[in-house]
Amino acid sequence: MATHRPSELAIGESTLEPPLTLSTETATPAAAQEAHVRELLNRWGSGGFFRLKYMGEKIFVDRIEQGAAYVVDLRTHYEERTFRQIEEPYGGGPVDDNRVPPDVWQVPVRPAAEFEQQVEKVVVPGTERVALCGGCAGNGRVVCPQCHGQGHRVCPNCGGTGMIEQQVAVAGPGDPKNNTMTAPRVLRRRCHCGGGQVRCSACAGNGAQTCGRCRGTGRTKTFEQLQARFYVVEGRQVLDDTPVADKALGELTGECELELKAPLITGHRQVSEKVGQCIAAELKKSHAIDARQQRVLAQSLNVARIPQTEVKYTYAGVERRLWICGKEERVFAPGAPWQRERYWLLVGGIVVAAAIVLVVLAFVLVR
Ligand SMILES: [Zn+2]
Ligand SMILES: [Zn+2]
Ligand SMILES: [Zn+2]
Repeated sequence: MATHRPSELAIGESTLEPPLTLSTETATPAAAQEAHVRELLNRWGSGGFFRLKYMGEKIFVDRIEQGAAYVVDLRTHYEERTFRQIEEPYGGGPVDDNRVPPDVWQVPVRPAAEFEQQVEKVVVPGTERVALCGGCAGNGRVVCPQCHGQGHRVCPNCGGTGMIEQQVAVAGPGDPKNNTMTAPRVLRRRCHCGGGQVRCSACAGNGAQTCGRCRGTGRTKTFEQLQARFYVVEGRQVLDDTPVADKALGELTGECELELKAPLITGHRQVSEKVGQCIAAELKKSHAIDARQQRVLAQSLNVARIPQTEVKYTYAGVERRLWICGKEERVFAPGAPWQRERYWLLVGGIVVAAAIVLVVLAFVLVR
């Protein structure tokens, strides 16, 4: 009896005690997560001059929490139609003036491709009219505006006097020490124009020019031009409770929460209340248009869920927070500890360099 007891006890003890190999491999998910965070922070710490090296090992991790930010992207393709009255010279040809012009949205326009931005201009059918030119009253020619019909104008060289005065410097007696003294003298000569007038170059001396509005035809054609402008408006909203910059979050990858494309998005499947409210507001904004001039052609809605790991940690007795965001696991650590001595080293280096430059400059200038 006494002989086999110790062996029984030994077996019992060994089964109760945890095996020694369970130190790292079968660690709890929380421990594995913390190890991963520390590894990320070590890598982050070595990625910047002022960052704390091996930061992951130097901090005390208080808590790790999983959260998410949402990036709501809405693209809307619009068409806007406006009209303009156009006048152009009429030199003959068919005139489309004998039918009722169609309604704004009935005017045929080449449709734009999906989310294509462009401008199309078309003549509205039935709006062409031909009339006598208002610029020349049908003459085709107008009085030359440069010479007011004279055919000639004042010579620009002599200003109409026929003579050109020129001031020349002639060496004067001066004082004996300085022989550069000069005396001004005026020379007069005849201008090459003769009588102070030159032929008008704008009308070649005719006093009349071809009418620009009708290009000499005496008639113009007016019509309504429809301008269809296809444009895209993109809106991005970032729903985030952390101090991480929205712009930075928008550049990260996450999981697709919602993806929709429709001629006009009016509804979507169930999402969280916060995201739903944001989508509703964005859609409402995108649909607020003047229906007489604008219409929505297509919309696409994308909602991405960007994972965010919040790490509460303590370093040097101060509680701080940082975030690890996106599939990229980018670290955002505002207020993270940094290497102050490196800063002073840099400032000191700059001061010394500046001093050396000054000394060298002074040396060169003195010589
Ligand atoms: Zn004219
Ligand atoms: Zn002249
Ligand atoms: Zn002229």
